[in-house]
Amino acid sequence: MKRVLLSLFIFLLSSPAFALDLETIRFGQHGADTRIVIETSEPADFKSFILPNPERLIVDLPLFVWQAGDMTIPLNPQIKNVRYAVHKPGVSRIVFELAQAKTIKAAFKLDPLENGNHRLVIDLKPGGHTGIDTHGSLNTEKVALTTQNTGTLTPTPSPVRGKKPLIVIDPGHGGTDPGAISPQKIHEKNIVLPMAHELKDALEASGKYRVKLTRTTDTYITLGNRVKLSRQWGADMFISLHADSIDNSSIRGASIYTLSNTASDKLSAKLAEKENKSDIIAGVDLTHEDKVVVDILTSLAMRDTQNQSRFFANLLVDSFKNKGVRTLPNTHRYAGFAVLKAPDVPAVLIEAGFVSNRTEAQQLSDRSYRRKVIGAIQTGIDTYFDKTL
Ligand SMILES: [Zn+2]
Repeated sequence: MKRVLLSLFIFLLSSPAFALDLETIRFGQHGADTRIVIETSEPADFKSFILPNPERLIVDLPLFVWQAGDMTIPLNPQIKNVRYAVHKPGVSRIVFELAQAKTIKAAFKLDPLENGNHRLVIDLKPGGHTGIDTHGSLNTEKVALTTQNTGTLTPTPSPVRGKKPLIVIDPGHGGTDPGAISPQKIHEKNIVLPMAHELKDALEASGKYRVKLTRTTDTYITLGNRVKLSRQWGADMFISLHADSIDNSSIRGASIYTLSNTASDKLSAKLAEKENKSDIIAGVDLTHEDKVVVDILTSLAMRDTQNQSRFFANLLVDSFKNKGVRTLPNTHRYAGFAVLKAPDVPAVLIEAGFVSNRTEAQQLSDRSYRRKVIGAIQTGIDTYFDKTL
């Protein structure tokens, strides 16, 4: 484990594929034409094309680090939304959702600005297109190959064409580690295990996903191994299932966590500390290996995975609220959970509720209540994969 991580770390530092920063995106309207200017820190090859139903402009670039901030608010009447993700090894993809059918009129590169930023310019004109009309010179096949040959890392898995996305569900705790215990002595591990099986069944029944569980029985598995399994299997999404506990027995509601070096608040910090102790409870100390993982965490390459995790977490929050699952205020929180530290798999940790609250502990042990939570998670997953192509 340690050696793999170390070579991964070196790879991340030495790989030029991660050197590109996407600094900003600007929009302009010239009559009926829409101009999109993408500024990058280095000169970058790109590929752009239009996909219909719904109308989208796709721009593929070498792997970049997104520095352009939140672009989900429409910045131009012709652009409904901007999103991005690692599309496949070595390639980052930006998707511009268009308000109406467009054709690429021109796509070209411009010399650096005074601030040193390089520019890609794409001009769109109204009207539908016929056939795939590709602009730019990025050879995505070659990029992918180079990246894969550079190091031991399999970069961010994105669903292989024709293959269903793989969701890895991680029921927390197990075996010697009961997790949180409710006033009526319901164990967290006995809530999250059936929940994981039920979520797996629901996802598989949809026919859209492959699903694996990090544990299928009441056994303990180290936090490190949970992460390792999800990477070995080539997970497209990692979901750790938990139920929380707190001194104040009146507190209830679900929350969704993504990884951060610094916790979003005291409660989150305390919770991460508690969940991370899981390995110590089970008699395994991963303190040293954790240090290497923490080092990787600081590397630029992780940011894209983190962005995807946060994007997914926010979709889950919406879906929980829409389905009437009780949630904590500031439902999406950040903390340093060891189990979320795979550098290349988008990951969230769901605290489905508080077992320290007698009512919620009872609800979470009840299959019909869990069905509501599972429905909300499933909707979040569907939306995520719809939006990331
Ligand atoms: Zn837990």
